[in-house]
Amino acid sequence: VNADSGAPTIFDKIINKEIPSSIVYEDGKVLAFRDINPQAPVHVLVIPKFRDGLTDLGKADGRHEEILGQLLHAAKIVAEKEGILDGFRVVINSGPSACQSVYHLHLHVLGGRQMNWPPG
Ligand code: 5GP
Repeated sequence: VNADSGAPTIFDKIINKEIPSSIVYEDGKVLAFRDINPQAPVHVLVIPKFRDGLTDLGKADGRHEEILGQLLHAAKIVAEKEGILDGFRVVINSGPSACQSVYHLHLHVLGGRQMNWPPG
């Protein structure tokens, strides 16, 4: 199976509550839950509940514009709920060269410490 073949991922099981996660925000279209291997005091993943071809950002096209906006807005809601509006980072790893490991589009929302730049 290719990394981006479109096969179901662990995130489908999280969406379906088949495996537990620590949910920070949820609505009809979007789910946000804590990363199992946090890289900062706050590290939340924001995902579409319906992947609809969005294995990675590189697969986005016009029909995804609405959900892409909803994901970014959910990232802001997460930052507000987590109390990191003074400084937070949103990251999308897209594709093997960016170290993407789960092929269901996700935004990383990171904060709660000094976030340095460039990230390396
Ligand atoms: P990527 O490298 O694809 O951008 O990020 C995937 C993220 O998913 C990683 O930060 C990893 O720790 C997280 N992750 C992988 N499996 C699970 C899981 O089963 N539960 C949770 N909460 N996070 C996961």
